[in-house]
Formats: sequence, structure tokens, C-alpha cells
Amino acid sequence: MTMLASSPVTADLRGHRVPLDLYIDGAWRSGSMDFGVVNPATGAEIARVVDGGASDALDALDAADRAQAAWRDVAPRARARLFARAHALLLERGEAIAAIMTLESGKPLAEARAEFALSADFFLWYTEQIAHLHGTYASGSNGGYRIVTTHQPVGPSLLITPWNFPLLMIARKAGAALAAGCTVVVKSAKETPLTCALFVETLHDAGFPPGVVNLVHTTTSADVSSAVMADSRLRKVSFTGSTGVGTTLLGQAAPGIVNASMELGGDGPFVVLADADVELAAQQAVVCKFRNAGQACVAANRIIVHESIADEFTERFLALTRELTVGDGFTDGVDVGPLISERQRDTVARLVAEFTDAGAELLAGGGKVAGDGFFFEPTVFRVDTEIGDLCNRELFAPIATIYRVGSTAEALAFANDTTYGLAAYVFTRDLSRAIAVAERLEFGMVGINRGIMADPAAAFGGIKSSGLGREGGHDGISEFLEPRYLAITVD
Ligand code: NAD
Repeated sequence: MTMLASSPVTADLRGHRVPLDLYIDGAWRSGSMDFGVVNPATGAEIARVVDGGASDALDALDAADRAQAAWRDVAPRARARLFARAHALLLERGEAIAAIMTLESGKPLAEARAEFALSADFFLWYTEQIAHLHGTYASGSNGGYRIVTTHQPVGPSLLITPWNFPLLMIARKAGAALAAGCTVVVKSAKETPLTCALFVETLHDAGFPPGVVNLVHTTTSADVSSAVMADSRLRKVSFTGSTGVGTTLLGQAAPGIVNASMELGGDGPFVVLADADVELAAQQAVVCKFRNAGQACVAANRIIVHESIADEFTERFLALTRELTVGDGFTDGVDVGPLISERQRDTVARLVAEFTDAGAELLAGGGKVAGDGFFFEPTVFRVDTEIGDLCNRELFAPIATIYRVGSTAEALAFANDTTYGLAAYVFTRDLSRAIAVAERLEFGMVGINRGIMADPAAAFGGIKSSGLGREGGHDGISEFLEPRYLAITVD
């Protein structure tokens, strides 16, 4: 039976109260079905959350649709004040949110805190932009009238997030959508619903009106999202996840011409040229590869090193990899947490076998770590560029693959030989060469002498099979706005 309440059923986890219900039209909703959330560091169930179905999601869309007109008309300053209150509350709750993130995703607490800080920063950045969403005013080309361009919110939006960055993905999407004046239905990832719930509860406590933000957890994502996608009240879908699911959603968006933004998979080349600072490149490569146990869309998927420095780089990279401590994210000094699930760990083990069978040379790791959690050793392979399909696959795993090339041109050709186009990296001491290479890399983002790219003011996103549209920066807000042109006669 469905029950509505002004406060949610909660669980006490590590001393923090965490909502377990759905959140629809400003009220918490329980349900007769639920599912377990697992701590990947122990394999133990930590809580059971309400398992929403298509009818819950359609109720959420209904609420979002009813709230849309009023939310669009909230004055920018008033909307910004709500954002500012939510930002202040987020900061108060930072430690709780980071702890719950570590508990359900396994990432080390230091990484969870960094993700929290970046997410709060995104929210602050949107707060600052709300009163600055301008239009334009111009003369008609042949006189006699004026052209005024304003921006309207696209309308009720479905936001689907993955588990690998449980807070950043929702903060980045919901912040942009709400700043633009769209109402939202958030579908959390079933592995990490609790972080999403804490975020949505914060917006509720900040005073966002009923229906503006709605949250559905579910184990039946395909059913839930196809019901919402088929409803003509939905005007936008913003998805972060795999290219396969993104393709399905684009197909579902087509009949109703639903506006779509897609942040999909990556196959990031990490190019180290002959004149690179080898120590810097090795340090950044280790972070770029093993952050979040390799489960990042922007991870270094192929490390491509000029042959003149390949041995020196590999030795340093291996030394730094061996210094990484694998363990429970709550333990001090842990660098690499578990994988998200046993299934993901099996996938990683299969990948190791595939590389080995294809003749790649195993330099470090390669195995599961014994114990209850889903831990896997940081693994390093030396791989030949001729290995075939394996080198064009998103690994999404703590497996580093080092390729050796003979020239910058060869590095570029190999880097671009992929259907993906999210993030790439280039390391060189020569600024002109860095720019020349960055301009030729067919990717939406290029890190020059740095292995981490994340900033609220920057347009994050990819091309080719890595997606459509951008998140962050003014481009990110524009994803939730439609230009409207007014022609005004002037005598
Ligand atoms: P996934 O595509 O399996 O799931 C992502 C989300 O989609 C989850 O909420 C899931 O429940 C939901 N989902 C699954 N099937 C669905 C369906 N048929 N209809 C609607 N929703 C559905 O991806 P994942 O395994 O959770 O995440 C890993 C992938 O996400 C990787 O490919 C990674 O590169 C990508 N990713 C991309 C970015 C980016 O910004 N480009 C960021 C993080 C992750």
C-alpha cells in the first residue's frame, strides 16, 4: 500500500538518518516493494529502499508537470535564494553525505569528500548564474522591427544518473535543470539511492516547492523510464550512463521529439609525448586511472607513451601503482575501494583474462582480493597497439593498459581510433605541440598536463558515441532552455 508522509521512513547509518522512501509532489511515499542496498566493501546489505514502479514515476511526472508553470515564473532572485539555502544546508550535511556515499559506493572517504565539495561548488555556481540568464535584443535585418530572444525552460525533465558519482551526477543535472526553471523527476541508480535521497531531502528542507523535484528509486529502470519517456508531458531527458542505455533512450525520445542530453561512455587516451615531464605524467596517470577504482567515464583507458620514455614512464607508473592501498573506504590511507558489485568484479576478471589471452604482458595485479568485499588489485598491462578490438573498449576497471608508439603522429592516430570521444589527455613540455595535439584529438575535453578535469564553469561532455550536449558552464544550463524569439514591430 502507498502511504504519503511529510517526513520519510529512515534508516540510521553510521549515525546519519537516511530517507528510504520515494519523494513525489513534496511528500515522501512508502510502498509495498523494496530492494536492498549493499556496502560493496563488505557485501552486506545496509538498508532497504522503496522500489518504485511505472505508476510512481508517472505520478512524479504528473507532479512535475503541474508544478512547471509556477516554477518557470519564480523570479530569478527568489529561485537563487532557494538555491543559496540548499547550498548552505548541503555544506552543513557534507560529512553525512560523504559517509553515505562511501558506504553505498565503496569509494574512499577522501574521494567522497572531494566529490561532495565539487558537487556543492556546482550548486553554488548555478546559484550565481540564475539572475544572469540573459536574452538578446537586435534590429530586424531590414529595419521596421526588433528581434528579442528570450529563453524558456524546456519543461518537465527526466534525470537518470549512474552509481559511480552518486552525488555529482545528480547535483550537476538537477542544478542546471532547476536553475533553468525546469521541474525534474530524478531516477537514482539502484546501487546508490541513498546519496540521491540525502540530496533531494536537502532541496526539500531548503523549501523547493512541491512537484519541482521528485525522486524515484527502482529496480525496473527500463519499465519505469519507458513509461515516462512515452508520456507527452515529458519534454527533456538528461542521462548519464552507458552508451547502450543512452542509445535505447534516444530511440524512446524520437517519437515525441523529446529533447535529449547524453553523457555516455569513454575510451580516454592518455598521451605522453617524448618531451613530457615523466614524473608528472606518471602521477597524473595513476590518479586518472585508479580514481574510483577505475570506474570513471573520463578514466585513462589507454595510456599511450612515446617509445623514447616508455620504460622510464612504465617503471615510475608501476612504482606508484604498487604504493596504492586497496581496502574499505572508511579506513585511513586507503586509495582504492571495492568495485560496485560482484558482477562488476567478475567482468573485470574476464577482461584480465582477455588481455592475457591476447598476449598482453601483465606487469602488476591481475586478481581479486580475497575477503568479503568486491576488491580487485590495481592491474597494469603492457599492450601492443595491434591487439585489436580490446583496445577500443571502455574498461571501466582498475586495469591500466600501457601502449608504446614511435611518434606524435602515431600517438594521435591510435588515440583517435575509437568510436568514443569523451576525455583525452596529453603530456608535453612544449605548449605549441600541446595545442596542436589537443586540437587534433577528437574528444569533447582534453586535459593538458593534468589528469583530472572537473569545474562547474566548464562544459563537460563528449562527442561521437560519448554523448550529446554538455553539463556545467553556461552550456549546461542551456541544455534545459529553449530560445524564444519575439518579433516586435517598431514604427
Ligand atoms: P548504465 O547505463 O547501466 O546505468 C545508468 C543509469 O541508467 C542507472 O540509473 C540505471 O539504473 C539506468 N538504466 C539502466 N537501464 C536502463 C533503461 N533501459 N532505461 C532507463 N534507464 C536505465 O550505466 P552504469 O553501469 O550505471 O554506469 C557506467 C556507465 O556510465 C559507463 O559507461 C560510464 O562511462 C558512464 N558514465 C558516463 C559519464 C559521463 O559524464 N559521460 C559519467 C559517469 C558514467
